[in-house]
Amino acid sequence: MFVPDAIYFEKDIDKYKLGKELLEKYKDVPRFQIENHNNIEEMRKKSNKEFPKMKRNLIIGTRKTHKFVENHKVSDFLVPYTSSGCIASCLYCYLVCNYNKCAYLRLFVNREEMLDKIIKTSEKSDKQLTFEIGSNSDLILENTITNNLVWTIENFKDSNKGILTFPTKFDMVDPILSLNHKGKIIPRVSVNPEEIINKVEFGTSRLNGRIEAINKLKEAGYNVGILIAPVIFLDNWKELYLDLIKKLESSLSEKVKKDVFFEIIFMTYSYIHTKINEEAFPNAINLYDKSIMTGRGKGKYWYKNNIREEGKLFFRENLKKYFPNNKIIYIV
Ligand code: SF4
Repeated sequence: MFVPDAIYFEKDIDKYKLGKELLEKYKDVPRFQIENHNNIEEMRKKSNKEFPKMKRNLIIGTRKTHKFVENHKVSDFLVPYTSSGCIASCLYCYLVCNYNKCAYLRLFVNREEMLDKIIKTSEKSDKQLTFEIGSNSDLILENTITNNLVWTIENFKDSNKGILTFPTKFDMVDPILSLNHKGKIIPRVSVNPEEIINKVEFGTSRLNGRIEAINKLKEAGYNVGILIAPVIFLDNWKELYLDLIKKLESSLSEKVKKDVFFEIIFMTYSYIHTKINEEAFPNAINLYDKSIMTGRGKGKYWYKNNIREEGKLFFRENLKKYFPNNKIIYIV
């Protein structure tokens, strides 16, 4: 169980049920009242070296902006939901936009307001809308602290319309297995070769645990997706990802293989990642490889076109071979 080193909380959180519960749950943990979860002076002053330590804090507040962003991959909208950030430390994490603002786990206690907006939006629409509720954090991980995913599924299942989806790199799915989700929730489990999980995805679940989680979710009636993400082109990438695809083929249940779908995402990286990682994780692998990466503006990098094309071909061919009946939603 995660016990934070300290909690930083906005003064109004005790007006919400979850806020009261969290204050009670962490009553023995040092606490500091803050004005705004977006701007914690003390955190801003910390050096990159302190990044992993900062992730041992919990920030609790309310979400003030509820803007849905249109999306056309697996959902219709990206929805800011009950948390932002994470206590794990994947070296490429795209949530590391600015470490002193985005790195640590922020929990938002006004969940009723957020779910209500999703339900109202879906009911107003003529078509069945899908909402991505996990683009700012990892909800399976967050659930171990707040029980918010259980709460969400229980409170969403009776709405007339709409689908919720979220990605995860964690295997703690047991709390949602017995829920009557009515097919309205699509968990998507993100996988990578074990070697990459070990070297890059610090603090996340092992590959075997994630595969087991996929089987369990399917057994519990969920429609499940698999993200192979982010694909990192290390020198031996073909060998690593071929082994991964073969392992998935041999370990996933027949039920999963019947209709699981894939999303493939190539890693993007940035100057900020490089700066934080070299100070915070000096012994870690350097993910910036200038021989195969190129700039894409604003200090961001991605793989060169020829590498991405080779990657696309590789995944199309091998998924077709080992998962001939399964759809690849996109490769980007
Ligand atoms: S598990 Fe997801 S949210 Fe957490 S550090 Fe890794 S990529 Fe970021």
